[in-house]
Amino acid sequence: MDFSLTDEERAVRDTVRSFIRREVMPLEAEVLRRERAHQPGLDHSEVRELQLKARKFGFWGLATPEEYGGMDLPAVLQSLIWTELGHTFVPFRFGGEADNILFHATEEQKQEFLIPTIEGERRSCFAITEPGAGSDAANIRLSARRDGDDWILDGEKTFITGGHDADFAIVVAVTDREKGARNGGATAFLVDRSMGWRSEFIQTMGEGGPASLIFDGVRVPHRNILGEIGQGFTLGMEWIGKGRYTIPSHAIGIAERVLQMAIDYANTRETFGTKIGANQAIQWMIADSETELEAARWLVLRSAWTVDQGLDPRHASSMGKLYGAGMVNRVVDRVLQIHGGMGYTRELPIERWYRQVRLYRIFEGTDEMQRLIISRDLLRGYTKIGGHLA
Ligand SMILES: Cc1cc2nc3c(=O)[nH]c(=O)nc-3n(C[C@H](O)[C@H](O)[C@H](O)COP(=O)(O)OP(=O)(O)OC[C@H]3O[C@@H](n4cnc5c(N)ncnc54)[C@H](O)[C@@H]3O)c2cc1C
Repeated sequence: MDFSLTDEERAVRDTVRSFIRREVMPLEAEVLRRERAHQPGLDHSEVRELQLKARKFGFWGLATPEEYGGMDLPAVLQSLIWTELGHTFVPFRFGGEADNILFHATEEQKQEFLIPTIEGERRSCFAITEPGAGSDAANIRLSARRDGDDWILDGEKTFITGGHDADFAIVVAVTDREKGARNGGATAFLVDRSMGWRSEFIQTMGEGGPASLIFDGVRVPHRNILGEIGQGFTLGMEWIGKGRYTIPSHAIGIAERVLQMAIDYANTRETFGTKIGANQAIQWMIADSETELEAARWLVLRSAWTVDQGLDPRHASSMGKLYGAGMVNRVVDRVLQIHGGMGYTRELPIERWYRQVRLYRIFEGTDEMQRLIISRDLLRGYTKIGGHLA
């Protein structure tokens, strides 16, 4: 058994690390200042400028196939990169990406939607959640009714990341109510904003926010169906599957950064004539955080490895998402505690991370849904205790 990184993994990881340190972290003070003034940390053109800079270093389209100019990296390497990105709260991610399910597009759709999204000229959002259907995504109601060569979409989506800025939405709609979404009754549509949907920004406890998308008789041409009629729910689950290892990978990066802040603070802050790090209460918080962080790292790397091996990654990914999301919440909470009153202020970014990571237990499958998947697969005998080593 070999737990070390390959030379290539280490080289890519280190290059990303130095790019983040050199080009992204110096922006942190300005990002905090703007967010405190209720402005976006970075605007679209600034993110794009950074992405084009990264492109010069060869970092473009981590998950994008080479034929589209991407790197098509294995999941383990992508996981390592998402961890590096987690080291900073600057809202940056590498460019050259598109929603994984957009690669199911027809040639014509690829020219209109996929390629401009990869190039950063168009912005997408993915919409399955509705006011009455979140965890129970098969209960969606937004309807698509055939009318000649078009479909008419009616209903509402909610909590859609990037929904207020997107040029087009990938919308999962009910096309056959009798069948039900899970059994071929839902279809994915590529819907330009110019076709008539509108968005309403939703305030959240985090920075930025998702949006509700309102479809009131929006007419969409038949050629804008993504994939096959009836394939919408399957595509939706494929879209969500990607986040199951990228989200906890990001969580690991956040936990590494804040834990280091806690260690530095514990080694400098003095009370009662000694460093606070000399107290067992503080030492235990640091020890528990490092232990949980390390456990999350191997769970998540194994789930990414499972993807690379072509094995069914759902069980491992659900464990990684469940544990990684919980871990980062516990670690940030302890780190805030170690910083005392300073941790609670807006002079430090800890309270920002505290608000941000709460989301990780909710979106792309809540803790409870991950538990449901993990236990269901064990109870029906689909997976064995011990995973691939069993
Ligand atoms: C900031 C943000 C961004 C998002 N981005 C997107 C996006 O881009 N696209 C998109 O389509 N969606 C998006 N979502 C939606 C997100 O995926 C849902 O919020 C999530 O799936 C939970 O659904 P819900 O909010 O309706 O909660 P509900 O499903 O109503 O659940 C409420 C609570 O009950 C629990 N629960 C539900 N059923 C069970 C059960 N059977 N057993 C035990 N507990 C249960 C849940 O775990 C939760 O704790 C986003 C959400 C947020 C907050």
